Amino acid sequence: MTVGRFAPSPSGRIHLGNILCCLLAWLSARQKGGTVVLRIEDLDSARCPRRYADQMIQDLRWLGLDWDRGPEVSGPDEPYFQSQRSALYQAALDRLEAQGLVYPCFCTRAELHAAGAPHREDGLTVYAGTCRNLTPTQRAERSARRPPALRLRVPDKEVSFIDGHMGPCTENLERDCGDFLLRRSDGMFAYQLAVVVDDAAMGVTEVVRGADLLSSTPRQLYLYQLLDRTPPEFIHFPLLLAPDGRRLSKRDADAGLDSLRNRVTAEELLGTLAALAGFHPSGEPASAAELLGEFSWETVPREDIRLPAHLFES
Ligand code: GLU
Repeated sequence: MTVGRFAPSPSGRIHLGNILCCLLAWLSARQKGGTVVLRIEDLDSARCPRRYADQMIQDLRWLGLDWDRGPEVSGPDEPYFQSQRSALYQAALDRLEAQGLVYPCFCTRAELHAAGAPHREDGLTVYAGTCRNLTPTQRAERSARRPPALRLRVPDKEVSFIDGHMGPCTENLERDCGDFLLRRSDGMFAYQLAVVVDDAAMGVTEVVRGADLLSSTPRQLYLYQLLDRTPPEFIHFPLLLAPDGRRLSKRDADAGLDSLRNRVTAEELLGTLAALAGFHPSGEPASAAELLGEFSWETVPREDIRLPAHLFES
């Protein structure tokens, strides 16, 4: 039985990229008769106040994208807000710690950049391993000055997988990513850990999300292995870009729903997004349910998609 999910981060008003993500995740799961979970990824509670989550939930309702488990409908894996699931993340962290794979990192942001580690296209700085082999005395001294972040030690190992849309992908964890964060120095759990714990706990079998997270997948697969859980199938789709090729951002309110909801109907919006995603050539207004008959991954492009200007004016 397929269990799909949408996992938006409510750090602002939902934008067209998030909507496309929810639409594709919904269609992919529903077409197989599957269940849909809505999980609110509000780990960063300062940036994700509850009112944004409430607005996002209302926007999803307006779009006609429903869910079987999640906020407002409950379900077996409550709570569906990451901000309320810290005990589960801590338990996973304890398990990784018991395997001797977690170490404290005292590097400041400036030090991380100064370490001269290569920056990847997705903005990740490959960790240079500065705090990997500190002695117990060094750790004690530094802990007295600054609370540490926690990192996972990764091996010099290739992780390969077949993405359901993008095809074969491989990454060497040590060379291409480096030891990665599990918890920040302020105590906030890292997305990589939380998403694996939650998708595993919620029985998610397929993860549909934007290609900006393709490069997170090897880290997540490694966590599935260490936590002894079966990973879902990963299906990444191309990003929606602004008409000038920029990435969309919730903070800029680029292509946000604020003004769009006054100008277009949900069906017009879904019809246009489905056309851009390659499976609804007419671009005519259509409800999510009507798009079920037409949806196919086969015609979804693999390169980034530029939004037409008329949808973008904010
Ligand atoms: N919360 C993430 C976002 O809104 C998505 C995480 C995921 O799908 O794995 O970008």
